[in-house]
Parts: sequence; structure tokens; C-alpha cells
Amino acid sequence: MRVLVTGGAGYVGSVSVERLVASGHDVTVLDSLVTGHRSAVVDGARLVQGTLRDRDGLERLLREERIDAVLHCAARSLVGQSAAEPALYYTENVVGGVGLLDAMLGAGVERLVFSSTAAVYGAPEVVPIPEDAPVAPINPYGETKRAFEGAMRWYGGAYGLRGVALRYFNVAGATERNGEQHDPETHLVPNVLAAALGRRQLTVFGTDYPTPDGTCIRDYIHVEDLANAHLAALELTARKHPTTGSPGSDPGSERPEPGGGDPTPGHGGLTVCNLGSGSGFSVLEVIRAAGSVVGRPIPYQVGARRPGDPAALIASNARARDLLGWTPRHGTLEEMIGSAWRWLETHPEGYPP
Ligand code: UDP
Repeated sequence: MRVLVTGGAGYVGSVSVERLVASGHDVTVLDSLVTGHRSAVVDGARLVQGTLRDRDGLERLLREERIDAVLHCAARSLVGQSAAEPALYYTENVVGGVGLLDAMLGAGVERLVFSSTAAVYGAPEVVPIPEDAPVAPINPYGETKRAFEGAMRWYGGAYGLRGVALRYFNVAGATERNGEQHDPETHLVPNVLAAALGRRQLTVFGTDYPTPDGTCIRDYIHVEDLANAHLAALELTARKHPTTGSPGSDPGSERPEPGGGDPTPGHGGLTVCNLGSGSGFSVLEVIRAAGSVVGRPIPYQVGARRPGDPAALIASNARARDLLGWTPRHGTLEEMIGSAWRWLETHPEGYPP
């Protein structure tokens, strides 16, 4: 298939591009390179530098490249920044996203997979979180992702867009080629490894949560497993008619639909799928696992809670198994942290500027 990957020079996007190219697909990457890295785009994919807000340029690109399906990873994705600068998040994640939808309509491209987030659930009442849990984001980042999911749902009903939104949890790990490099870095695993290298001080944000060791529990997923799920979701959007008969309400809907809908693309609306391992690890467990990967204990200090952190986020991945035939293959912390550590060792300066 001919796929456009927006944000294909970023962390999740670049590994998904690697996977698509390795599977023989024809890939065009659209990336502004504001947070992405040119050299993260594997040879074999075309890189176009540009923004989602150039709607007409996007439509031309979709036509010229004869795109069959879009994988939409481009987004602003820092929770703290989103609270300080919501305008940036609404402009890029919502206005930019709707520009993409309109360009797709113009070019007659119907298949869309969206890299969404578990942040749409806010602080969930039930874990593991099923897809029909209430959607109640607690920051502009999650809110703008929810808003775009909403647009996909309504475009699906009205215009036949076949959309899948993948709500994923905490991504970690690296391939040999691509790893995680954000500036500023806020995520736990890269911060722990930076502490192991003596590059920064690690602070554990809160030890008084209602969890067994008092630190937050998260559901970690290897970026390669995530890339496999993206490919499976792209393949799912090829289906025009339901074939699974899987049960489930129209997930994440702000309009409850009693009686349930069909989660298969082609029925209007939107297919939502959580991606996680179904189990969780605490912050201290991550620090201990990293210590055994690097061969020495990682120093840390205990600090205050970080605002907006729910105590535990764990995905139910039953639907991903049913609908995508997906199971995480690299589910241990040692695999995830080990691959991230190897990437740091082989890329000591990160990506070239
Ligand atoms: N965390 C931490 N120290 C850090 C970074 C993160 O204690 O330097 C904690 C954070 O409070 C959360 C967990 O690690 O409980 C995972 O945070 P991350 O930012 O990686 O992902 P999030 O769950 O916020 O998407």
C-alpha cells in the first residue's frame, strides 16, 4: 500500500516508517522537522518537509503520491507544555488535523489511522481501562487528541472515512536505528537512562500514591510493538465491510450508543483500540530494571507529585487482540529499557542536528 505518515520523523512515527518500509510498503513522510529528526527517516521512504496547515499542498501531495492510507502521528505531545500553551495544541493538533481530513476528502483518500493517546481517559476509575471507559481528558494535550477523534468519528459517519484511533499508553524502547530523543525530555525511561549516564538528576514524582510501593504505575509498550499495531490497523482500514462481529459499543463516544456499534471500519463512526500490555510497572520498578540493564544502581531523589499524574494507567488490550490480532512481543522492562540503552550507547550524541 502507498502510505503517508505524518510525523514520520518523530519517535513513534519513524519506527512505524521503518516497519512499513521493511514490509514492502511505499512510504511518504510528511514532517515539519520542528520536533522530528531528518535522519530518523529510513532510506526507502520519501521525506517531505511541510506542515499540516497547508491544506491545498496536502491534497496535492496525497494525489501526486497516489496515497491509499494515512498514518497520522504528527502532533504536539507534551502535557505540561499543553497546559501553558493550549493555543499551540489546538492549532497544530486540531486545526492541523482537520486540514488533513479535508485534504483527504478532497483527494478521495478514505483510510486513516490516528496515533491517539491514553490521555483521553484522564484519571480513569477502572483499570485495566476498556475502550468504552468515559473519555475525560484532564489537560489540553488529551483534549485536543479527543477533539480530533471526534472529528474522525463524524467524518466517518458523514463522508465514509474509515478511521482507527489507537490509544496508546507509555511507549519505550528503540530499534537499532531509531530511538527516543525529545527536547525537553520529560519521560521516565529516557530520564532514568540519562541519570545512569550522569547527565541529569532523576526525581521520582511522588511516593505517596495508593499503589503497592507508593509510586505511579504505568503500562509500558515497546515502540516496535506499537509499530506492528499501526501496520495492523492500516490493514484493517482496507476492510469495507465488517467481518469480525466483535462486540462493543462505539467506543469513547461522547454520544453513548445503546445497543452498541460495530468496531470495524466502514460502518461510519470510528474504531478505537487501546494499545498496552494489560499490566503495569511502578516508577521504582522501572528504576530497578534499568539498574540491572546498566549494571549499577541508578541514583534518584524523591520529589513532590507531578500535577495531573493519575496513580495507575493500565490498558485492557482485549480489543487489540481481537480486532488487530495484536499482542505485544517485547513486554518485559528489560527488553524495552535494554533496547533504549543500546540505542544510547550506539548514538551517544543522539540524532545529528
Ligand atoms: N516520572 C518520574 N520522574 C521523571 C519522569 C516521570 O517520576 O523524571 C513518573 C511520572 O510521574 C509518571 C511515570 O513516571 O508517574 C511515567 O511518566 P512519563 O512522563 O514517562 O509518562 P506519562 O505516564 O506521564 O505519559
